[in-house]
Amino acid sequence: MAVPKRRVSRTRRDKRRTHYKLQTQNITRCPKCGEPKMPHRVCPFCGEYKGTTYHVIVTKK
Ligand SMILES: [Zn+2]
Repeated sequence: MAVPKRRVSRTRRDKRRTHYKLQTQNITRCPKCGEPKMPHRVCPFCGEYKGTTYHVIVTKK
């Protein structure tokens, strides 16, 4: 099995990992109800996407 020639120091390892970070999730607003939603998805609040209602949200009273 191949073995690394030199051990990567803690500093070097951690410096490499400074680029590892979570991407923030894109959030857009629904043009119909104005609630925040994920882009390219049917709105979870009013069930509409690109002017078409795909499902009607049944709200529990
Ligand atoms: Zn909506």
